[in-house]
Amino acid sequence: MTIPYFVKGIVVKGFGRGSKQLGIPTANFPIEVVKQLPECIKTGIYFGFATVDKSEVFKMVMSIGWNPYFQNTQKSMEIHIIHQFDEDFYGLEMKACILGFMRPEKSFDSLDALILAIHNDIEEAKRKLGEPEFEKYKMDVFFHT
Ligand code: ADP
Ligand code: MG
Repeated sequence: MTIPYFVKGIVVKGFGRGSKQLGIPTANFPIEVVKQLPECIKTGIYFGFATVDKSEVFKMVMSIGWNPYFQNTQKSMEIHIIHQFDEDFYGLEMKACILGFMRPEKSFDSLDALILAIHNDIEEAKRKLGEPEFEKYKMDVFFHT
C-alpha cells in the first residue's frame, strides 16, 4: 500500500508561478525528494497532514504535477498548508503524510475558476481530514520524532 505515504525534505524555492499572489502559497519539496516518489502515485491533487520544523500538525492539500521548468520530465510536489504563517519557511524541514487522492490535475478557463477549484479542494480536505480514519495520522510517530 502506498497511501499513506510519508515524506520529508527541505522547503525550496518554486518556480514563481505566483501562488502566493493568489493567496495560496505552495511550499515545494526539492527535486531529490520528488524523484523518490513511487511510480504509482499519479499526478493530481491530494490531501494530508504536514509540519514545518517541529510545528503542530496542520491539514494540507498537495499538488503533484509535471514541472514545465524541467520540460515536463520531472514532477513537482507542492504543499499548501492550511494555516496562516507569519513568515516564509524556505530552508526549513517540512514533513508530510499523503492520505488520499482528490482529483486529477486539470487546466482551467480562467484564473478565477482555478482559485475557486483550489478553495473547494481546501474545504474538502478539511472535511475529510476530520474523519477518524484520517485524523489518527496527526498523532503518528513520524511527526513527533
Ligand atoms: P514558490 O514559487 O517559491 O514556491 P509560492 O508563492 O508558492 O512561492 O510561496 C511558497 C512559500 O510561501 C513557501 O515556500 C513558504 O515559505 C511560504 N508559505 C507561507 N505560508 C504558507 C502556507 N500556508 N503553505 C505553504 N507555504 C507557505
Ligand atoms: Mg510554490
